[in-house]
Amino acid sequence: MAVGSPAELPSSLSVTDLLAPFRSDPPGSAILCDFDGTLAPIVDDPAAARPLAGAAATLAGLARRYGCAGVISGRPAGFLAAHFGGRGLLLSGLYGLEEVDAGGAGRAAAGAERWRPAVEAAARAAEADLPADVGVERKGLSVTVHYRTSPAQGPAVARWAAAHAAASGLVLHPARMSCELRPPVRRDKGTVVAEVGAGRRQVCFLGDDLGDLSAFDALDRLAAAGATALRVGVASREAPAELLDRADTVVDGPAGALTLLRALLVGEQGPSGPLSEGQGPSGPLSREQAF
Ligand SMILES: [Mg+2]
Repeated sequence: MAVGSPAELPSSLSVTDLLAPFRSDPPGSAILCDFDGTLAPIVDDPAAARPLAGAAATLAGLARRYGCAGVISGRPAGFLAAHFGGRGLLLSGLYGLEEVDAGGAGRAAAGAERWRPAVEAAARAAEADLPADVGVERKGLSVTVHYRTSPAQGPAVARWAAAHAAASGLVLHPARMSCELRPPVRRDKGTVVAEVGAGRRQVCFLGDDLGDLSAFDALDRLAAAGATALRVGVASREAPAELLDRADTVVDGPAGALTLLRALLVGEQGPSGPLSEGQGPSGPLSREQAF
């Protein structure tokens, strides 16, 4: 059974109903999520972002119980390893350009490594060309230029990034209050979701930003092929309308995302047991649902 868009679902379908196929078949299920804005509150300084208390332990529990659990993020693999390593999680960084291997080291996707010098040159150029109140975040195989603390610089950053992308061969990816330049390697979050989801009966992804739409696209394809796909939108003031519109259910910020993930662990001793009252999400499906 494929879970379709909210418009296709019976109005009585609750989050409990949406999670039921996963909870009744953990080995055949993959639980995947974004990091910033999904497991961690958005903060002005990207280096200061931290997962919510209990998020890593919850993900570790999911990894023990489900066929696959993981984080697919724009962060470098090393950052993900520092916060979530050693817990049996799939950790994919830089929108699928890096993975954390079994030893905790980052491993670049084929074709990405040779772009490292061009990315470093872009970072140096951003620092030289753009005002000092713009933040340049070096991620190794990509560079992100942030204007969260100076929104008025947004148009200038966008123009600079577009011009530098055209001149360097790097690819521009806009995100929340930032522009990122990446190698022209055909990988994104959807690539990773498709790889993980192949052969699984249920796949879920939680995300909050434009970069997560490719993951939703991959879920659409998995659903068309017969899998149960669950798209969870994580709402915030900045969440793109398209992402929330396409979500099967919407949770309220990282706290809501963590509540949903914890609901997947309720009744760990019996995979088909009902959610305990007061412990799991319930109620009618709504794009504005917060729990
Ligand atoms: Mg995010």
